[in-house]
Amino acid sequence: MASENKHVYVFGQSRTDGDAKMKNLLGGKGANLAEMCRLGIRVPSGFTISTEVCTVYTKQGLDAVKELIRAEVTQGIAFIEGEMGKRFGNADDPLLLSVRSGARASMPGMMDTILNLGLNDEAVAGLAAKSGNERFAWDSYRRFVQMYGDVVMGLKPVSKEEHDPFEVIIDAVKHQKGVALDTELETADLKELVNRFKGLIRARVGREFPTDPWEQLWGSVMAVFQSWNNERAQVYRELNDIPESWGTAVNVQAMVFGNLGSHSGTGVAFTRDAATGEDLFNGEFLINAQGEDVVAGIRTPQQITLEGSRRWAELAVIGEDERRAKYPSLEELMPDIYKQLIEAETKLERHYADMQDIEFTIQEGRLWMLQTRNGKRTGAAMVRIAMDMLRQGLIDEKEALRRVNPERLNELLHPVFDPAAMKKARSIAHGLPASPGAATGQIVFFADEAEEWVRKGRRVVLVRQETSPEDLRGMSVAQGILTARGGMTSHAAVVARGMGKCCVSGAGAVHVNYSARTMTIGSETFKEGEWISLNGSTGDVYLGQVPTKEAELTGDFGALMELADKYKRLGVRANADTPADAKAARGFGATGIGLCRTEHMFFEGDRIRAVREMILADDLPGRRRALAKLLPMQRGDFEGLFREMSGLPVTIRLLDPPLHEFVPHDEANQQIMAEEMNVPLGVIKLRVDDLHEFNPMMGHRGCRLGITYPEITEMQTRAIIEAALNMRKQGHDVKAEIMIPLVGTVREFNAQANVIRQTAAAVFQERGEEIAYMIGTMIETPRAALIADSIGAQAEFFSFGTNDLTQMTMGFSRDDAGKFLPHYIKGGIYERDPFQSIDQKGVGLLVKMAVEKGRSVRPKLKVGVCGEHGGDPASVVFFHGCGLDYVSCSPFRVPIARLAAAQAAVDGGK
Ligand code: ADP
Ligand code: MG
Ligand code: MG
Repeated sequence: MASENKHVYVFGQSRTDGDAKMKNLLGGKGANLAEMCRLGIRVPSGFTISTEVCTVYTKQGLDAVKELIRAEVTQGIAFIEGEMGKRFGNADDPLLLSVRSGARASMPGMMDTILNLGLNDEAVAGLAAKSGNERFAWDSYRRFVQMYGDVVMGLKPVSKEEHDPFEVIIDAVKHQKGVALDTELETADLKELVNRFKGLIRARVGREFPTDPWEQLWGSVMAVFQSWNNERAQVYRELNDIPESWGTAVNVQAMVFGNLGSHSGTGVAFTRDAATGEDLFNGEFLINAQGEDVVAGIRTPQQITLEGSRRWAELAVIGEDERRAKYPSLEELMPDIYKQLIEAETKLERHYADMQDIEFTIQEGRLWMLQTRNGKRTGAAMVRIAMDMLRQGLIDEKEALRRVNPERLNELLHPVFDPAAMKKARSIAHGLPASPGAATGQIVFFADEAEEWVRKGRRVVLVRQETSPEDLRGMSVAQGILTARGGMTSHAAVVARGMGKCCVSGAGAVHVNYSARTMTIGSETFKEGEWISLNGSTGDVYLGQVPTKEAELTGDFGALMELADKYKRLGVRANADTPADAKAARGFGATGIGLCRTEHMFFEGDRIRAVREMILADDLPGRRRALAKLLPMQRGDFEGLFREMSGLPVTIRLLDPPLHEFVPHDEANQQIMAEEMNVPLGVIKLRVDDLHEFNPMMGHRGCRLGITYPEITEMQTRAIIEAALNMRKQGHDVKAEIMIPLVGTVREFNAQANVIRQTAAAVFQERGEEIAYMIGTMIETPRAALIADSIGAQAEFFSFGTNDLTQMTMGFSRDDAGKFLPHYIKGGIYERDPFQSIDQKGVGLLVKMAVEKGRSVRPKLKVGVCGEHGGDPASVVFFHGCGLDYVSCSPFRVPIARLAAAQAAVDGGK
């Protein structure tokens, strides 16, 4: 609808050019103002200057813009004059305007609104005479000079210590008068404020406040365009992926006045509760107020509905009599306006079929709407509103699925801080919101001590420079984890998310001193045992104990999940290493285990001793002896998994990490190990040195371990098959899938598959019974993807290990990428962290290709993914498009993946 020479779109009673679909051209605010006019809702008339003009401003500057739109703006003003019956610039009865910015997506950091534009020393007298309300006229003028001086003339505090210079003057005048509220200032005081403001502008800016309304108008319009490129806006755009080319629109609109006295006011409202999603109209208003007074907190706003007012009074501990006298609801105070407001909000919500956030003004008993938009909401509200609206027939099932951002389900899965308590808490540091949730506990610096403290019944937060696999158990018993180093995919972050444990990672300001058992932030030092609280959803670290409350899993959450299952094609499995994880995963709707990392079982209890024995053994019999000790423990683990997952597939990966991960690297622990194993320290040191690799992730790991030490594969296979037989005997339906890691050649696969088959056959022989099982492989080296047809001829299933595949395809390690990746993302070299969201063009291409090649030789080949990406919504959508059978992710991300899979199915994987 954009035409080359139309740049100004009017809205009003007699004509409206735009509508809600024109957000790109008119911005969100402008498009919705037009739409409201079309719906017959009362909106002050105005016009919108399109976003395209902003681009002209950015490229060609102010004069080009004036040239381009002067005639249209003149016509636009004439349009408003016609609608409102007042003339712009007429000092006797002036038409006053507001100038409002409005991009496609609502964007903090843009220019603030300017109200009452068109006033000057003559017009203020005209306004006073015409309204018969001198105080109102000067209140409006005072506000205008202040806003214009700040926003257009740039009169802002010069340092962060300085207060807003206008507010300083207001406070001085109030002080002089001995009053507390703006409303207590009289006309003479307001006149004095205007004078002082003008003097301030003259002194600081070196120019007079402009008296010509047209000059005021152009100044404001250009200030909006200018603000598109201010630093705040640029930073926000960067963070939210908003292209500079979008530009902002400018809305110029006739003023309506909420500051005309006790029959006027202004307010904001939500058609439903944005925190809980409850279908309850709610909001706040102020009598005799203008603009942002309600949100600015200068007076206590009143509640719109009686119900809301009563709830508010209860929280504020205000009795019913006092409430009714001092803080009555709009419903009680202006029943007629209230009725109109209900009509408008109902109409708007039905029309947009979504919860609306609205702004309105009451001028002498008349209601005017000033804005509507889809309201921001919590994850919980998102779910509830979607499901309520589905039941109310406002949206259909597919739309209900689209309405919930999968990522936001996180908030429903973890305990949360009490919002009121959080406001009072003192934030001492900030890190990355690595794993959501709320944690409160005493600081401990060592994983083993975390366990010890918890055994004594304490609650702890594990604070580490960074974590390593040795810290697993300490992490699992801690309330939360705080690390000074490491990103969103650091060990701590990944493990914490997997555990559904709150974690703040990479809090750079935190300095951990292990020997002193302290953590220092700035000039403050915190000792072991002090209480701190972590908000894993925001990355905030608070001092002391911030009270938490259990997340409420409403019935709607379950209903949404059922709906997701109805539409999704992808299966969703979980990465789970223990029966407890498996149980949690099943509770979240996982339909199997896509990855069990057997090595995680090696750290538990005294298993690590047996593992170390195996590593230290210098001959085959020695290794076999150690492995024989591990066998019953592993078998027990697998039995637990098969029991919990009865009827569902369980994919077990053979030992994967390099062996050096299982031995201590510091002398103190090596000494302990030496004593435990009854060998000299020197022997331990020698072996640890032996295991040292320059690049362990590309070293002796994965199936390379099983090929050099087939006895490990034998033991693990035996444990799996025996466990399967045992559980079947107990009546469970066992579906075991044995997975060979890090395969790069068909021969590697075959060598390991032979060991597995022979071992299984041996067990079957001994037991005199058989059970079906599958042998598959991970596709996680680029070479495996390239020869996926040859491998597919041998393997019964593929599971993409996208963590390693990404690492090896990109050629940088996940653990070291933190040094440059943030820089790359900021610079636009990568759009996203490829370890968080699959690199669709590169790594994704390998996935696609491998699926096609694999299925070309084995059409029914089962294919899944078990990297971190399995729980990333954008990646899930991509995998849907690749034709995968399932994704596998950590238990707490199962609901997120289910929803993302449904959205992919609904919108065809777009
Ligand atoms: P934001 O984008 O920050 O929400 P707005 O452009 O919505 O800024 O303006 C803020 C407030 O200014 C509005 O909520 C409304 O109260 C007031 N306002 C804006 N335009 C007018 C107008 N034409 N008449 C009366 N009040 C207005
Ligand atoms: Mg607004
Ligand atoms: Mg791997």
